[in-house]
Amino acid sequence: MKSVLVRSLAAALCCLCGWAVSAPLPMRLGDAARPLAYALDLRVDPDRARHSGSVTIELELKAPLQRLRLHAKQLRISAVSLQPEQGGALKGRAANADADSVYLLFNKPVPAGRARLTLSFEGQISDKDVFGLFRQREAGRWYAFTQLEDVGARRAFPLFDEPGWKVPWTLALTVPSGQQAFANMPVLRESPAGAGWKRLEFKPSPPMPSYLLAFAIGPFDVLQGAPAGALPLRYLTPRGKAGEATFAAAVTPAIVERLQAYFGLPHPFEKLDSLVIPLTDWFSAMENAGLITYASRIMLAEPGKESRAQQRDYVSTAAHEIAHQWFGNYVTMAWWSDLWLNESFASWMGDKITAELRPEWRWETSAQHARRSAMLGDRLASARRVRQPVDTPQDLGTAFDEITYSKGQAVLAMFEGWLGPERMQAGVRRYMARHAWGSATGDDFLMALADVDGGGDVELQRSFASFIDQPGMPKLTMRLICEAAGARLQVEQSRYRPLGMTGGAPQLWQVPLLLRTPAGLTRHWLKTASDSIALPDRDCPAWLQPNPGGQGYYRAQLAPGLRAPVLAVNEWLALLDDQLALAQSGDVPLDQVLALTAELAADPRREIVEAVTRVLIELRPLLAPVQRAAYARLWQQSYGPLAHRLGWAVQPGDSEDSRLLRELLLPLLADAGQDAVLRTQARERVQAWLADPQAASLDPGLRGALLQSAAIEGDAALFDAMHKLALGTPQRQLREDLLHALAWFEAPALAERARRLLLDPRFDIRELSPELLQRQSRVPALAPGMLSFVNRHDAALRRRMGSQAPAYLPEQLGQGCTVAEAEALQRLFGPKAKAYGAGPGVLAKATERLRLCAAFREAQGAALDTYLQRLP
Ligand SMILES: [Zn+2]
Repeated sequence: MKSVLVRSLAAALCCLCGWAVSAPLPMRLGDAARPLAYALDLRVDPDRARHSGSVTIELELKAPLQRLRLHAKQLRISAVSLQPEQGGALKGRAANADADSVYLLFNKPVPAGRARLTLSFEGQISDKDVFGLFRQREAGRWYAFTQLEDVGARRAFPLFDEPGWKVPWTLALTVPSGQQAFANMPVLRESPAGAGWKRLEFKPSPPMPSYLLAFAIGPFDVLQGAPAGALPLRYLTPRGKAGEATFAAAVTPAIVERLQAYFGLPHPFEKLDSLVIPLTDWFSAMENAGLITYASRIMLAEPGKESRAQQRDYVSTAAHEIAHQWFGNYVTMAWWSDLWLNESFASWMGDKITAELRPEWRWETSAQHARRSAMLGDRLASARRVRQPVDTPQDLGTAFDEITYSKGQAVLAMFEGWLGPERMQAGVRRYMARHAWGSATGDDFLMALADVDGGGDVELQRSFASFIDQPGMPKLTMRLICEAAGARLQVEQSRYRPLGMTGGAPQLWQVPLLLRTPAGLTRHWLKTASDSIALPDRDCPAWLQPNPGGQGYYRAQLAPGLRAPVLAVNEWLALLDDQLALAQSGDVPLDQVLALTAELAADPRREIVEAVTRVLIELRPLLAPVQRAAYARLWQQSYGPLAHRLGWAVQPGDSEDSRLLRELLLPLLADAGQDAVLRTQARERVQAWLADPQAASLDPGLRGALLQSAAIEGDAALFDAMHKLALGTPQRQLREDLLHALAWFEAPALAERARRLLLDPRFDIRELSPELLQRQSRVPALAPGMLSFVNRHDAALRRRMGSQAPAYLPEQLGQGCTVAEAEALQRLFGPKAKAYGAGPGVLAKATERLRLCAAFREAQGAALDTYLQRLP
């Protein structure tokens, strides 16, 4: 979800001493008026791009006022009336305050106390954004949807658009009589509303913030699913697609039941609908109370043909969104600065439930994905804090990032490891009970968590706060000291700093440090920059595990000679990731990481293979063109034999892991491994399928990989065939697979044709970007052409993109490893970035990443070169 456009330029205002520029209005409305309840009445026809309606807001005014500020964006407010509890009704008018709000002006003061405000308005239904009230066409029919997080509600109707105002909502929708409509609550009654229209009144909702309101209108199909206990579950899809929600309908009840058991509370809302949005850009799903929306690629698949990856995506995404029904919807953050309370929790809980539900997926390693993704963002000098003040639209625009989602999740996992799952669950339940149907802050959560045996665990609160209130992560350097008095571990703590990082004062964390040695587990609060920890071992320990379970949110560096006995998969993953990071900070030689990678490449466990491939992929930007052949040999040595053993054909006896490894490894070997055999085989399979889709069908899990591998050296005829099929197919997933594969053609003329599709009105730009931009920017021979294309067609591209999407161009284009690229991005996007909520933050991170990569290459590029040259 993305934030709104930057507020209008500060208006000039006249004063006695001349012209001055007024300060921008604050983002928050203040508490002069408090909403108590909303009745919202909207008229929406998905076939038309405008909507109209009225809203009645029960208010409490703190003091008499004559001017009231409300959120509204691009709305035309035609009538304003206010009925105070005492006295006659007042008429008012609306005047623009800034890009996000209006003033309501009354001709005499409104008295303090209760009042009823009624506004009539009209607005625009967006065709380009997946935000506010928007519409999309699927198979020739229009559908209208909402996406109101974070501040999209103000584009649909005027209101107090802040998450802390949790009040009941009563919604009525007037829609064309042939259409269906759904909202957070069940329908209470339906009645005719003039020729061709009907009116649906929904039951009043429990207290809810504005960002969770949702509705959808269109010719939907309804799949009635099995309930979860007493909770009715439905799956709402575009016309003709209900059968494709079969997998979702089969697994969702168990997800709900496990969450109810964890919280010890029933699902907070009366029903739970899962609704498909054909195309999203910034998110894959949204937790609207009682009406979760999913991108079609997450929820829909031909029955029995969903890929392994899709199954995992649906279960983990649904578990995340359904967890929000408690964490976020039942208890809501008081303000956006505590967005982590929503997102870190839903991510942590969603993965926990997925791991419980499908033990055969070994989903517990997802904690390592979160740790790794968080640390990649958190190593930057421009990293945000988890709990970051939100005072401007720019602050909010950058809040939905890997820090809020993954760092918060990784920190929660670390504290669950420290407390144990039972104490963690008790804390979560205490938090839910204390703030039921209300709002809460991060401190409320920390208090509930630390509230053990009637007393607050102050150390725990301090420690937690040290991880969420400052950016970055600790680096712990460990050295063993063995003396007659016993064994001790000497630990030095500092902020982890990659090579090339500039600025920053010294930082300290209070680390909940767990250590394992032959004598057992040691628990220690590490609070200082230097500490000496007594170990329980009688003799000098032969080994030390500095991060048992891999859950610690710190980089661990053992002194030379000190060995870690790596046992569990998660410990391997943390170790390998830490080693690469320590090479990037200049603390260990890259040779050491490459040696570990070579050793681990012999380990056939899927999770280890995935981790090693990630390290190899991360080395790719460091390469000069002449090194690519040697780099391909590195891939061939590591995984060539395994990839060829797996082959492109799915075998009847394949295990889940074999199928997943095939989907991962074969396109990597075809691409980075320059595997001519795999490329040719992929082309032959794709050509046979294009000639006769029935006889030579492609496995849904492998289709994307085959199309991409075929495209690398594909010719114009193949490009044309894939392009034509993409235009003709009614299947959205197939169309996306084909369009994404068009980005992989490397012949310069075909790469240029792929770029021109970004301007082709027959495609929605969201179907092509960001995959096309990222892919071409990663291929050194194509990257300059892509950057120049975006520069040449800047205005046309921005017109076709969603209103906030251009903010992400620097991130999508910045795939290289040089300071020159960082400077080019700054030059091209610096002046434009401020026009978007997330713009300045995204640009700062994209250019910093390029500079850090350049510094890493400067320091370790020669070592990589020597290593590659020595490969047989
Ligand atoms: Zn979420």
